[in-house]
Amino acid sequence: MNHRPARAYIGLGSNRGDPVAQLRRALAALGGLPASRLQAVSPFYVSAPMGRRNQSPFINAVAALDTALAPMSLLRALQRIEAAQGRRRGRRRWGPRPLDLDLLLYGARRMRTARLQVPHPRLSQRAFVLRPLCDVAPGVRVPPRQRRARAWLRRLGSQRVAALAAPTGTLTALESAAAGTSAQWPQSAGP
Ligand code: ATP
Ligand code: CA
Ligand code: CA
Repeated sequence: MNHRPARAYIGLGSNRGDPVAQLRRALAALGGLPASRLQAVSPFYVSAPMGRRNQSPFINAVAALDTALAPMSLLRALQRIEAAQGRRRGRRRWGPRPLDLDLLLYGARRMRTARLQVPHPRLSQRAFVLRPLCDVAPGVRVPPRQRRARAWLRRLGSQRVAALAAPTGTLTALESAAAGTSAQWPQSAGP
């Protein structure tokens, strides 16, 4: 069932296969969701994997999506996109994956069910999510204490997140996806 439209923020991550291509395919899929419009996409960033360290670096980005899909419908849609790009559920959390799509924020909604927690409960602890979120919505409020995204990011100065080199200085991921050009891995990528 459709809802009043809300601005949702979606975190994208990949560290398997061709992560840049995975993110670009996922962005195209997000852009094609029913009752939804992709409004902005952050640049792509590289960060060391969380949890188990013997994995490749992650590529992360954040997308702003205006959607009339209800939160659970949106989550199911995100999981279908993950599955279509080779994600197998039931694997260990925080292990390598071709695509991870997290619903970070859904307007000002707060939800806490077994399958969906919004805002994403670990958002304020992760520079690899806050960095791209700040590119598209630096002033957005993030719990706990409803600090702005940029304020949370400032507190995480020790977490390293590097911008991925873009084909030109100003080309955004959205533009490069639309233009069919590919972003490039930085030479120094790595934990
Ligand atoms: P993390 O949530 O810490 O980033 P993860 O992304 O590796 O870890 P997954 O294995 O992708 O975790 O997801 C585990 C479960 O989390 C999913 O099956 C989903 O039902 C649930 N979940 C709860 N809240 C959210 C949310 N806001 N976005 C995406 N999944 C969520
Ligand atoms: Ca995640
Ligand atoms: Ca996830």
